[in-house]
Amino acid sequence: MTTYRVFREPELVVASHNQGKVREINELLKDLPISIQSAAELNLPEPEETGTTFVANAELKARSALEHGKKAAIADDSGFCVEALGGDPGIYSARWAGPERDFSLAMRNVEEKLQAAGARDFNRRRGYFIAVLALIWPDGHIETFEGRVDGTCVWPPRGDKGFGYDPIFVPDGHDRTFGEMSSDEKHSWGNGNALSHRARAFEKLYSACFEPAIKR
Ligand code: IMP
Repeated sequence: MTTYRVFREPELVVASHNQGKVREINELLKDLPISIQSAAELNLPEPEETGTTFVANAELKARSALEHGKKAAIADDSGFCVEALGGDPGIYSARWAGPERDFSLAMRNVEEKLQAAGARDFNRRRGYFIAVLALIWPDGHIETFEGRVDGTCVWPPRGDKGFGYDPIFVPDGHDRTFGEMSSDEKHSWGNGNALSHRARAFEKLYSACFEPAIKR
């Protein structure tokens, strides 16, 4: 059985400059007796994501936040992977939206590539969101956890809740896109029924590193 280090630090930095993600991670952590600040609030630099995997990028962001903020940090690297596109946009999910962070453009790009690949049937339009959370302690110890949610790419985009690729993704077992779901529906966790990739990763992280500290 894998053993994980239990988190007993009083402070935690959310190592992200993406407001959507900071909001979501804050919601996920809201019941914990830990003082939370974001990398943006602390003016920490945003490292370049030079890793070639989600794990490498999550760890790189966590290490950078620790190096500059000198406190425990949690980082997330996530993305949207489309099977008919060989896993693209994958680790380049944010970059597909260009410097203006235009996700209408990124979603259109996905759809155009799916059309070019002849992927019209639902079973050829499979995709998934993946999230890797990296939790780093002040001494540099790090634990990583992965969550994934599978589903189908739809067109046209639906819903204005959420962010990024949410409006073109319908998770398995549902008929609405992530863009049509409330934040609670997408991210609630704690009963083993977490839906979003980030909530699934967080559920693992929570039971491994946070819950044992609270139970004592
Ligand atoms: P990064 O983790 O900062 O490299 O960025 C991940 C990118 O993946 C985001 O900018 C979004 O485009 C996309 N993404 C990750 N999680 C979600 C999600 O829950 N909904 C929609 N898009 C997401």
